[in-house]
Amino acid sequence: GMGGAGAVVMRPGSVGGKVPLGLRRKGLRIVVTGGAGFVGSHLVDRLMERGDSVIVVDNFFTGRKENVVHHFGNPNFELIRHDVVEPILLEVDQIYHLACPASPVHYKFNPVKTIKTNVVGTLNMLGLAKRVGARFLLTSTSEVYGDPLQHPQVETYWGNVNPIGVRSCYDEGKRTAETLTMDYHRGANLEVRIARIFNTYGPRMCIDDGRVVSNFVAQALRKEPLTVYGDGKQTRSFQYVSDLVEGLMRLMEGEHVGPFNLGNPGEFTMLELAKVVQDTIDPNARIEFRANTEDDPHKRKPDITRAKELLGWEPKISLRQGLPLMVSDFRKRVFGDHTDAAT
Ligand code: NAD
Ligand code: UDP
Ligand code: UDP
Repeated sequence: GMGGAGAVVMRPGSVGGKVPLGLRRKGLRIVVTGGAGFVGSHLVDRLMERGDSVIVVDNFFTGRKENVVHHFGNPNFELIRHDVVEPILLEVDQIYHLACPASPVHYKFNPVKTIKTNVVGTLNMLGLAKRVGARFLLTSTSEVYGDPLQHPQVETYWGNVNPIGVRSCYDEGKRTAETLTMDYHRGANLEVRIARIFNTYGPRMCIDDGRVVSNFVAQALRKEPLTVYGDGKQTRSFQYVSDLVEGLMRLMEGEHVGPFNLGNPGEFTMLELAKVVQDTIDPNARIEFRANTEDDPHKRKPDITRAKELLGWEPKISLRQGLPLMVSDFRKRVFGDHTDAAT
């Protein structure tokens, strides 16, 4: 199709991808809010490939036109610059609601805006779904578990979240978004789906978004020290973006509301992650310790039993397999073989 020159390759070899989802209804009209962002743009690629009509709604706070430019000119694709905090009228069959900054640096930049996006933005998209009878999928987050007292985290765990901290605009915002979603489901009979996404990485992440994987990869490529916050013993579980997109689509097409944890159970300390980055990019990369940020969760690892059983989904790509796929994209962008050359 239109995916030519500028398209970033995201599908690693034969993994994922080609398997049809069991249903091949033609001509679905699908809105992806936040579709110009990291996860959203990969989702849009898969939906376009499947032959659906896709409308991306994005205010470009953290998203970029470059992420979807390869679809410009395709009559099945439309890009609308719009802030989901404002109402919008569209006629569609499905709504993937991703609009919301995901990196702590970005969501703390304007916390009130983050809350409005999560609460008012989600309310508007639910109102839209109700008016046209569309199925609605919310991309929630593992952050709803806060600094978890259960490990690994199961969907039935209610979490341990600070309501008045610097991360609350995001954590509590997403918790409220989940509440709204369930209230529209129960009250208005809306068809809804909830995904709780764990840390995800891959091509098209913002290079300087402050997340740990993008930081380490960019730092190693630039021959800068890898900045480990705190003692580096806190853990995260890192999922490659194509695995997540497959999970989101299975969730949307399946018959279960959720919530579903979508994440890779492979758990790493930040020091272990640094080691993988060293092995992948530069064995001589130095490590520099920095003070940790406030309220940083100590550990995080998804229990994905529910997604395995009810969606037939599990991640296929390990960190050591996925990281090189992201590195080649970052290498191009960091060393600017096109527009970034000035920096
Ligand atoms: P991202 O920042 O790359 O993408 C978010 C997109 O939403 C951007 O294109 C941004 O411009 C857009 N956006 C933000 N506020 C908006 C608004 N008010 N109106 C319209 N558009 C707006 O982040 P991502 O990593 O692609 O995350 C996508 C979704 O997945 C988010 O909802 C995030 O909370 C969730 N999530 C992501 C991760 C992860 O590790 N990437 C983990 C958990 C949850
Ligand atoms: N909304 C929207 N597009 C629509 C329908 C609704 O943006 O197509 C917004 C609407 O402006 C409202 C929100 O969604 O702010 C919730 O709508 P709903 O009809 O559920 O509630 P109400 O308008 O009755 O408060
Ligand atoms: N982190 C780090 N170095 C960095 C950026 C982050 O050690 O340059 C740590 C951070 O303190 C946290 C973990 O990496 O413990 C994951 O942070 P990130 O911002 O990627 O995502 P989070 O899971 O906190 O939303």
